[in-house]
Amino acid sequence: MIRVAINGYGNLGRGVEQAITRNADMETVVVLTRRDPSSLTTLGAPVAHLEDMAAWEDKVDVCLNCGGSATDLAEQGPQAAAHFNTVDSFDTHARIPEYFAAVDAAARQADHLALISTGWDPGLFSMLRVLGESVLPDGATTTFWGPGVSQGHSDALRRIDGVLDARQYTLPVPQTVEAVKAGDDVELTTRSMHRRDCYVVAAPGADRSRIEREIVEMPNYFADYDTSVTFISAEQMRAEHGGIPHGGTVIRRGRTSEGVSANVTFELQLGSNPEFTGSVLVATGRAVARMAARGERGARTVFDLTLADLSPRTPEELRATYL
Ligand code: NAP
Repeated sequence: MIRVAINGYGNLGRGVEQAITRNADMETVVVLTRRDPSSLTTLGAPVAHLEDMAAWEDKVDVCLNCGGSATDLAEQGPQAAAHFNTVDSFDTHARIPEYFAAVDAAARQADHLALISTGWDPGLFSMLRVLGESVLPDGATTTFWGPGVSQGHSDALRRIDGVLDARQYTLPVPQTVEAVKAGDDVELTTRSMHRRDCYVVAAPGADRSRIEREIVEMPNYFADYDTSVTFISAEQMRAEHGGIPHGGTVIRRGRTSEGVSANVTFELQLGSNPEFTGSVLVATGRAVARMAARGERGARTVFDLTLADLSPRTPEELRATYL
């Protein structure tokens, strides 16, 4: 049995605990949190304060870090790697090299293995981008995100004066997706690839046209996209927008000889982003536990994983039924 600690109990932490119930070779031995442990209700795992994590060192094979990328993981990644083998889903793409270096140093110092930036993007999509380019070197890779909820953009909407609640969906532009798959010479810009749909609950008496203007003109978040704004009631928000769906598509379009094309498409449609991301963390946690047991140390990424280590099946089973 692979013994797992879950570090942080938000959407992703809950998704990880849920995913572990579907993996017979893994068990959650503790949930670690910065909050009062008695304030959390888990699916059954005991809860301990993060300050006490050293007490769990000998009882845990791998710690799945579920803190946020914006501020939590820069601290929690190196901190947890001092005590455990770890996995995290650090997703600030531009800062991955410096984060890798910090976690690598902490893990080597403590004789641990730490896999950073797993999930679906970064994660499975990163693997498919490398796979597509490796087998089709003469070509181009395109990634579309959505349809799905963007937490960061939803938060940006909620910070606008007069907005009580909001949900933002990122949607790929279907004509552009089809054109890329067909190999048409289409211009790929921020606006041609994705659109943004916003659902907003406004405070009573709030100026809706001012809110809409602030949204569509917001630099970085919305100004470069075709953005729609729909005002709805709090009841509608609860009834119709409670889930956290997401997904996306990686397309590698290439040529194997003059005039002969090949197209590799990898698509995800996720009813729950955190539950799926949690499922990826769990499978990669299995791989890390096995790699660490073989003596691997330091930081790794998904590019260093083998399918054999991710799978609960034996190499013999894999050869007999999957090859
Ligand atoms: P979240 O719900 O905001 O949770 C982040 C942390 O906040 C938790 O670990 C928890 O830590 C704390 N927290 C949660 N609920 C709280 C509450 N009610 N009051 C006080 N603190 C609370 O974030 P998330 O949705 O789980 O996402 C975590 C990260 O996953 C994201 O930042 C993103 O980087 C990553 N992610 C990656 C991918 C990928 O494909 N690579 C996909 C999705 C998400 P404590 O328990 O210690 O308080």
